[in-house]
Amino acid sequence: MDAKKSPAMIKKMFDTGKVTLVDPDTKYRYSLTAKCPDDGEYADVARFDKAGSSLSRVVFKCTQCEEEFEVPREQMMVI
Ligand SMILES: [Zn+2]
Repeated sequence: MDAKKSPAMIKKMFDTGKVTLVDPDTKYRYSLTAKCPDDGEYADVARFDKAGSSLSRVVFKCTQCEEEFEVPREQMMVI
């Protein structure tokens, strides 16, 4: 499955403080992901911080080079 940009889903994740979101129709659980700036591989969420009930910071870890990185919210995707 390819990652896709979904600003609405990502906003909901940030607003609810979760890095996954279940599609109510398909029951598929989407996860936040982002492309590694070094090699373009998709990365998993390594850790995240919350401010109140919202996400304030998400750190990704590349599955290829294992580097940790952050990206602006506009560059995040769901997979
Ligand atoms: Zn990488």
